[in-house]
Amino acid sequence: MLHFRKELWFNIPTRRAFVNITDQVSACIKESRIREGLVLVNAMHISASVFINDDESGLHHDFEVFLERLAPHEPVGAYRHNDTGEDNADAHIKRQIMGRETVVALTEGKLDLGPWEQIFYGEFDGKRRKRVLVKIIGE
Ligand code: ZN
Repeated sequence: MLHFRKELWFNIPTRRAFVNITDQVSACIKESRIREGLVLVNAMHISASVFINDDESGLHHDFEVFLERLAPHEPVGAYRHNDTGEDNADAHIKRQIMGRETVVALTEGKLDLGPWEQIFYGEFDGKRRKRVLVKIIGE
């Protein structure tokens, strides 16, 4: 069995954003030279997510509104976690809702995604360097 590991680094200039990382994951596959197997992509931070959905700006706006309704950033004093001096309790909750990782089948050297599926990095507490792990196993 072959294996490949790579970290993708991000420094999102805003507090929250959704970034399509499908091409970067595909580049990892090419670099790995693995043709059949599984691709794991996970956020390495507890205030960021990796998930699969449509690359459609209206939907991303809807995600933002939905997440802010469930776990608004303000008032930061409403969260026990922020008693530690942090202000990112909402980001932890948003990450929990949107998920830590995704696993995609690797078939004939390509991501075996459905017709509209794209891989996204979800940032909920940005303005600093953070990373995503790509692990590929197969043959
Ligand atoms: Zn925190």
